[in-house]
Amino acid sequence: MHPERSIASWFEGVLSLVYPTVCALCHRQRADHRQGYVCETCSLSVRRIGDHCCQRCGLPWSGKIVGHHACESCRGASGSWDEARAAVIAEGVALDCIHRLKYRKEPWFATFLSGLLNEAAVPALKGRSWQGIVPVPLHRAKLREREFNQAERLAGPLARALDVPMVTDRVRRREPTASQASLSRDDRSRNVRSAFEAARTDRIRGSWIIVDDVLTTGATTDAVAAVLKGLGAEQVVVWAVARAVLEPGGVWTDPPQPALPITSRAPGS
Ligand SMILES: [Zn+2]
Ligand SMILES: [Zn+2]
Repeated sequence: MHPERSIASWFEGVLSLVYPTVCALCHRQRADHRQGYVCETCSLSVRRIGDHCCQRCGLPWSGKIVGHHACESCRGASGSWDEARAAVIAEGVALDCIHRLKYRKEPWFATFLSGLLNEAAVPALKGRSWQGIVPVPLHRAKLREREFNQAERLAGPLARALDVPMVTDRVRRREPTASQASLSRDDRSRNVRSAFEAARTDRIRGSWIIVDDVLTTGATTDAVAAVLKGLGAEQVVVWAVARAVLEPGGVWTDPPQPALPITSRAPGS
């Protein structure tokens, strides 16, 4: 056996002693560390958004798409980012994994979630020229408490897959923000607007990618995009693993009161 491969299989053996090779979600089927301990059945239960969405905000669309499509809320909308996309709908398994990564510090879910992100984002982004990938920064106090920035865990593998540098020294979080979930749409925007600033003053140019775990109101990523545009970025595209969506007759996913559109209504209806 190739020495590197034998070291890898030895490492896998040790890992399987620490973490049993069973799905961390259903505890029934096999799943190893390469799958982020999420089995194929659980992975397939995640709803991918695909290309059938608003081309500005990534809202999944149930109707027919002809040419460039923007949902009702995005028509005439202006913001700092040029387009936003998410790989999957923020619900069920996907949302569970995000919460367990962030709040219960179960790091293996970063592998599974970045797999979902790369599956959708790499084909959409490769072949274009990008200057850098910016994970949405956490405030220092939050970083100390959480010990890692989940957006960074997701941006890293995307940066490697696209061969674009991950840039963490351009934008920083200015102050701890009140918990977003309890605020109204307007309060959220006001609260987040002033939360980011440029960490350096030298100019940038070209196209940039912002990465976050969940796209809910779009206010956070918009504020980061505003800093990048202020520094000289010409185009800013947002990619998130999951996007909050309200299904017809369904319930709010995570968390309530999004400002981004969350229902797919047919154009003009
Ligand atoms: Zn499973
Ligand atoms: Zn839209």
